[in-house]
Amino acid sequence: MASLSLKDICKVYPNGFEAVKNFNLEIEDKEFIIFVGPSGCGKSTTLRMIAGLEEISSGELKIGDRVVNDVEPKDRDIAMVFQNYALYPHMTVYDNMAFGLKLRKVPKDQIDKMVKEAARILDLEPLLDRKPKALSGGQRQRVAMGRAIVRDPKVFLMDEPLSNLDAKLRVQMRIEISKLHQRLGTTIIYVTHDQTEAMTLGTRIVVMKDGIIQQVDTPQNLYAAPCNLFVAGFIGSPQMNFLDAVCKVNGDKVTLQIGPHAIQLPPAKAKKLISGGYDGKTVVLGIRPEDVNDSQMFIEASPNSVVESTIKVYELLGAEVYLYFDVEGFPMTARVDPRTTARTGDTVKFALDVERIHVFDKETELTIT
Ligand code: ATP
Repeated sequence: MASLSLKDICKVYPNGFEAVKNFNLEIEDKEFIIFVGPSGCGKSTTLRMIAGLEEISSGELKIGDRVVNDVEPKDRDIAMVFQNYALYPHMTVYDNMAFGLKLRKVPKDQIDKMVKEAARILDLEPLLDRKPKALSGGQRQRVAMGRAIVRDPKVFLMDEPLSNLDAKLRVQMRIEISKLHQRLGTTIIYVTHDQTEAMTLGTRIVVMKDGIIQQVDTPQNLYAAPCNLFVAGFIGSPQMNFLDAVCKVNGDKVTLQIGPHAIQLPPAKAKKLISGGYDGKTVVLGIRPEDVNDSQMFIEASPNSVVESTIKVYELLGAEVYLYFDVEGFPMTARVDPRTTARTGDTVKFALDVERIHVFDKETELTIT
């Protein structure tokens, strides 16, 4: 079993900088946990504290039932894969993978079995005699993974393992890592600032900002129900559109007014704004680009959520089109069907899918609905 428990973990660096603040997280056996957030938010620091490479300033870290705050990295039963692979250049692939086991005085025939098994899993068998300089970036990455696998750790820690690869290889390796997780059934904690990696790999994602956890949830829930403006803006690409709007309550009806545009909220969402006392206040309306629709049929079916604007940029991405425009000075993106007739310079109507509108408190930045 490789569950982890992080209780009130804090990191204060010697210069007094608080990099991680009261980090609380229970990780279950076999989970694939992602730490994601902008540069400097404390992802790597947290991972390094779990690895034992960085001292924990306060709080309690458990791996399984054992408190490991003061346990040496090598005795924590974890393996770490770094961004720069950290392979030994003078050793072959085989020796790179075998090295840790030799140090631990594992018998030679057993080492051989373990290295060959890892090479088979990672498709490295034809490369075992090569040195790292004769490998591609993706192959080096697989060797680094192989070195971690042979140790048969309870927990894998990965710090941006794909960041040195080109876009195509990243996608391939992402799929490989997913398969590896299924095959090995170990707990993985993975650091990235790439939200696509986070969304596709994680069973749960921890979104961090300024050393503080913002939200911990499944990819689906983070996308559908972000807890605040930061998470809403961070998860999703192109990012969610945000517009200031004035909340107007009339009986049990609520409209969000953006200049001349009035967006009527569905009853369940309206209720939250009424009970929250938002009448007359400015709130932030959030809507994902795919929920801004230019199809005639959708517009006719949604007369109470229409905005109109002139297209500034038209971008065809093959399977979809992004249309960029402004509404009352707020930049918007619509992700629409590639068969759209809208082009740069056209004045176009869009309807917002009101069931998928998010509303945030402008001051606290927390989600209202
Ligand atoms: P990135 O995505 O850029 O790697 P990160 O989220 O992993 O960022 P960390 O490397 O954990 O961020 O750093 C968190 C904060 O702690 C940063 O502001 C960083 O400057 C600071 N920091 C890191 N190491 C030290 C140190 N040894 N002394 C002081 N501050 C540090």
